[in-house]
Amino acid sequence: MALSVLKYPASGLRKKAAPVEKIGEEIFNLVEAMIETMLTEDGLGLAANQVGKDSRIFVLNTTPREEQPQSMAFINPVVLHQEGEVKGEEGCLSFPELYLDIARPEKVRIYAKDLYNEGFILDVAGILARAVMHEMDHLNGILFIDHAADTDRENLQKYLAGLAKEVEVREER
Ligand SMILES: [Zn+2]
Repeated sequence: MALSVLKYPASGLRKKAAPVEKIGEEIFNLVEAMIETMLTEDGLGLAANQVGKDSRIFVLNTTPREEQPQSMAFINPVVLHQEGEVKGEEGCLSFPELYLDIARPEKVRIYAKDLYNEGFILDVAGILARAVMHEMDHLNGILFIDHAADTDRENLQKYLAGLAKEVEVREER
């Protein structure tokens, strides 16, 4: 079942997610629902706190350009190594229609547990390294707008002002 994704400025997005202590049926079901949500919303990744769950888990679509997506779950992930820096366009399911140029490492080595409680190490580069860092940030309550370049500041201000207006209108009703 697809979950609804929290949209900025939902307070859950600024919360640092708690480590997963036991990987059992509940986590299994959560990961399954997160993957379905990510694919339904056409996202490259999704963090648990984006669906209101206080757990250090994110999922990634590792084959975004293929018809049959391969999804992976990262539980209690830790970045072991990062190198290089590359700027690229980034979006976020919690910020519909906002795209910003963000600098991220070119290569990332990550450690995480899978659904079978097995630790694994994965090296990713390019768009997947970008996605890993974006989702790691989510788990720490950090959002991609926090990394916006000066050249994007004006666009970002407009976007956020638009959001604030929407919230006001909703509250007035
Ligand atoms: Zn995001």
